[in-house]
Amino acid sequence: MSDKTYGFETLAVHAGAAPDPATGARALPIYQTTAYAFDDADHAAALFNLQTVGFIYSRLTNPTNAALETRLATLERGRGCTVTASGHAAQVLAAFPLMSPGAEIVASSRLYGGSLQQMRNTYPKFGWSAKIVDADQPENFKRAVTANTKAFFIESLANPGGVVSDIEAIARIAEATGVPLLVDNTLATPWLCRPIDYGATLIVHSTTKFLSGTGTSMGGAVVDSGKFDWANGGKFPSLAGPEPAYHGLNFFETFGDMAYTFHCHAVGLRDLGPSQAPFNAWITMLGMESLSLRMERHCANAQKVAEFLAGHPAVAWVNYAGLPSNKYHQLARKYLPKGAGSVFTFGVKGGYDVGVKVVDGVNLFSHLANIGDAKSLIIHPASTTHRQLTDEQRVAAGAGPDVLRLSIGIETVDDIIADLQQALEKATS
Ligand SMILES: *Cc1c(COP(=O)(O)O)cnc(C)c1O
Repeated sequence: MSDKTYGFETLAVHAGAAPDPATGARALPIYQTTAYAFDDADHAAALFNLQTVGFIYSRLTNPTNAALETRLATLERGRGCTVTASGHAAQVLAAFPLMSPGAEIVASSRLYGGSLQQMRNTYPKFGWSAKIVDADQPENFKRAVTANTKAFFIESLANPGGVVSDIEAIARIAEATGVPLLVDNTLATPWLCRPIDYGATLIVHSTTKFLSGTGTSMGGAVVDSGKFDWANGGKFPSLAGPEPAYHGLNFFETFGDMAYTFHCHAVGLRDLGPSQAPFNAWITMLGMESLSLRMERHCANAQKVAEFLAGHPAVAWVNYAGLPSNKYHQLARKYLPKGAGSVFTFGVKGGYDVGVKVVDGVNLFSHLANIGDAKSLIIHPASTTHRQLTDEQRVAAGAGPDVLRLSIGIETVDDIIADLQQALEKATS
């Protein structure tokens, strides 16, 4: 099928998943295999030299995973994609072709806590470092740039929500600096926002969340726009210099706009090994068939729940970019015109004790550490994900004692609201 002529909903169902040429099976087969038989010795040699494209071993490539890669690249309007074992694996894999000891990334302070953790504590073990800046002022990215800066990293819509990045402004600074802009598009999904349209170079996803949509399957993805000139300025020798692991092959000269994606498979997955299980790719493909329907409902429900909470006497504040009073409402209207997502935080009057009572009082909501499930989810960060921090650190991270995080599901919205209503009543009576 020619991708150019179809709408988003059509591509979410069909891209990457034509009937199986071998059997006619209409559903995508799960290629549960580690290896693939070569035609002959010449074919094998050509595959190993990257002179022909094909399947060798499922750590590098797998046909079920390839279907998901095609679908994600298509929906994000990118050139290529690499799927990984988890969202965090995707973030390491995405940085790997760009980085070397001494290299730096400039990242937003509003990233998902796990991402900041990875940058602060694990990057240094590779000799990498991250400068964390307030992304509300895009100029902060320019100020943090040094000769060793290799990328900028932001989230389109930040977990735990309410925070929207000015992608276009930050992309312009990245372009002027000669570095790629990486955007974590997990919370928005390509249905709400396509950062490549605003100048992003690379997109990372935790497919664990809305893309699979069922809370069943870990996965991640890196999508490349194919638009970056990796030879410019000599900053990226892994991509545009001789690669010792392939007899001095220059990926950018050889593969052009597919250089980054080929490198992610042929070097990143090969040597680091965080490959996605084909079964998880298959479940994610099923989930993506209903992505637009689910996101529509997630956003509509979240908007109504946010409005309900904003008017509730036990609630101190609500951080949802879909509310006109929100600081990020204008940015949300530009970058997320179809809705401000389903994940957001609110504060309860009465602090820690009331927060804990609310998570203990819900019936329909599940109290757990995940987002993006069809089911409504709640967590009290101060007593769970952020409990190792000091009070001061918790407040700085947006996880103060009064904060509750919601991931609004696709159930009947009146039921969701009624559950919060009774939990708030019980907690404050
Ligand atoms: C969950 C999440 C991740 C990490 O993904 P995993 O699949 O859990 O490894 C990264 N970024 C964001 C925004 C997330 O919500």
